[in-house]
Amino acid sequence: MATNDNQEVQSASDSNHQLTADGKNAQMIICPNCRCKILLKKTAELVNTDIFLPYMRVKKNTSNQESGQVDGEQLSQFWKVDNMFTFENVGFTKTVGSSIKYLICADCEIGPIGWHDINDKTTFLIATQRIHYSD
Ligand SMILES: [Zn+2]
Repeated sequence: MATNDNQEVQSASDSNHQLTADGKNAQMIICPNCRCKILLKKTAELVNTDIFLPYMRVKKNTSNQESGQVDGEQLSQFWKVDNMFTFENVGFTKTVGSSIKYLICADCEIGPIGWHDINDKTTFLIATQRIHYSD
């Protein structure tokens, strides 16, 4: 007889992030390049939304941004923070288009790791695929 009482409440996706019971990040979020702290534990909420981000690069390449056509990818899972002062360490690019700023590592400037619309002061999004975790 098959006993299958080992039920997972959270469906384990292909990503390796861990959630607290109330949907916050269970681990510290760090820069994938220099490992500096971006968010402490339990400060961000996991959200699903589709946003296009250019591919990451370590230093900003201004010549690429002038063309308007940027290589990137559509990402669908983000850590959401509603106050910019929640971040331990984060930088912002200059405004792209009409109102978008990208979030980058304040230390090594790798990015974009996240996205912010300057018209919405309570939504800062960090792409789950572009950060690392640490205890
Ligand atoms: Zn960094």
